[in-house]
Amino acid sequence: MDYQSTRSSALRADSVTAVLEGIAPDGGLYITDTAKIDFDWKAALSCCSRDMSAMILHALLPDFPDMRALVEKAYLNKFETEDLTPLVKVGDRYVLELFRGPTSAFKDVALSVLPQLVTAGRALRGAKDDVVILTATSGDTGKAALEGFHDVAGTRIVVFYPYKGVSRVQELQMSTQKGGNVKVCAVRGNFDDAQTGVKNVFSACRDRDLGGKSLSSANSINIGRLAPQVMYYFKAYADLVSEGRIKTGDTVHYVVPTGNFGDILAGWFAKLLGLPVGTLVCASNQNNVLTDFINTGVYDKRREFYKTNSPSMDILVSSNLERLLYLLCKDESYVAGLMQKLSSEGWYEISNEMLIKLRSGFAAGCCDDESSIRTIGKVFHDHAYLMDPHTAVAWNVCDSFMESFGAEPAVVLSTASPYKFPAACLRALGEHSENDEFAVMRRLNEISGVPVPRNLAGLESAEVLHTDVIGKEDMLGYVLGYLAE
Ligand SMILES: *Cc1c(COP(=O)(O)O)cnc(C)c1O
Repeated sequence: MDYQSTRSSALRADSVTAVLEGIAPDGGLYITDTAKIDFDWKAALSCCSRDMSAMILHALLPDFPDMRALVEKAYLNKFETEDLTPLVKVGDRYVLELFRGPTSAFKDVALSVLPQLVTAGRALRGAKDDVVILTATSGDTGKAALEGFHDVAGTRIVVFYPYKGVSRVQELQMSTQKGGNVKVCAVRGNFDDAQTGVKNVFSACRDRDLGGKSLSSANSINIGRLAPQVMYYFKAYADLVSEGRIKTGDTVHYVVPTGNFGDILAGWFAKLLGLPVGTLVCASNQNNVLTDFINTGVYDKRREFYKTNSPSMDILVSSNLERLLYLLCKDESYVAGLMQKLSSEGWYEISNEMLIKLRSGFAAGCCDDESSIRTIGKVFHDHAYLMDPHTAVAWNVCDSFMESFGAEPAVVLSTASPYKFPAACLRALGEHSENDEFAVMRRLNEISGVPVPRNLAGLESAEVLHTDVIGKEDMLGYVLGYLAE
C-alpha cells in the first residue's frame, strides 16, 4: 500500500519510507487511502492492547515485518498498567487515561513505538548512517521522544521547545535527559515558531550533503507517530463492550483535547477502519483556531497567541489538519492551494461541501484557563478524580455535548498526569501554589491521595544537562553544527 504527499500524488512512498522521511519532499504530509484497507475491526476488539496495536499498525504500515514483535519490544516494562491505556468511569462519562507511560503524557503511547519503527526501517533499508530525529515540542512530545530515542543505535535526536513556554516540570524533564545521542535546545519563540523552524530545516537540508545522515521527525507529522495512537480508540470501545455498557456496533463519542490535531485524527483513522465512532469533539483552550474552523470553515491563524495553563495545546497552526483536509476531498492540488494560502496570507476557507463533510464527523468547543481550573476543582469535588488542565479542557467542552449524546457513552481522552502541571491543579483544589514545584507535587499528593509518578518525583534530584537557548532564526545552524559533530 502506498503513501503519497497530501500536496502531490506524484510524491509516493511505501510505509517504511514514509516513516523514515517523516515529511514529504514538498512539505506535505504522507497519507494513504484507508478505504483500500481491508480491516476486521470486530476481531481487533477481542484482542489485548498489544495485539490490537499490532493489528492496526500492520494494516496502516504494511511494509514492516513482524509488527507483533516490534510492539512487544516497544511497550516492554514501560507502562504502569498491563493494558497500557486504562478506561476509568468518572461520573456520567469515561476518562481514557493515556498518560500511564514513562513520561506521564499520552505521547508515550506512540513514541514508544516510533523508535522501533525507525530501527526496523533502517535495517530494512540497510542504512549505515545515523537518522537524525528533529522534534519541535509544545512540552510533552520532546520528553517522550527523548525517552524513546535516547541511546537507540543509529539515531540522534534534537528537541526544540519554546523558551519559557513549557511548564517547569516539562522543562526539567527535558533538560535532565541523559544519553549520548541527544540535544535539547530552547528557542526564543512559541511552539509555532519552533515547528515552522523544524519544517524549514527539513526543506533547507533537502538538497544539502549531510554526510550520509538523514533527517526524520518525531512529531505527529510523521505517520509512524500517528498510527500507534489509533489503538486506544479501539481499546476504549472494547472496554465499554466488555463491561456491558454498549453492544458491538453501538456508537461511542470521543472528546479530545487538541493541539496539533494528531490525537483526534487518530480517532478519525479508527473510524475509517470501521470502529463505530460517533462525534469526535475537538476541544481547544483559548487558542481556539480549530473551534472556529470546525464551526465556520475558515481557518485563520492571524490572531493573538495565548500562553495558557494547558501549554501542550498552545498552537495556532495544527499540522495534522492537512491530512484531514486531504481525506475529506482526496484532491491534492486543492490541499496544496489551501496550505499555500495559509503560509502566504495566514488564512484559508474550505468549500461548503467540505465543511458539511467535516461537520458530519467533528464538532468543536473551547474553554479558557478559568473554566478549566474550575472544572478540575469540580470534578475532584464531585467524583474524587484529579485531572490535568488539558483533560479538564476536554471535560469542560464535553459538558455542552452530553445532552446531544443522549444514552450514547462519551469518552474523554486524558492526555497528561496532573503532576505534570501541579501548580495549576493545586490552585484548582483551592490552595496557593508556592514556587517550588516539588513541594507543590507533594502537597497535591497529600490532598488527593493520587501517587506521584516516579519519573516526575525523580526530577527533583536530577542534574540539568542541557541549557542551550537560541533565536528562532538560528535553528538551521544549530542542527548543521550538530550534524557535523
Ligand atoms: C500533545 C498534547 C495534546 C495535543 O495533542 P495533539 O495530537 O497535538 O492534538 C494535548 N494534551 C497534552 C497533554 C499533550 O501533550
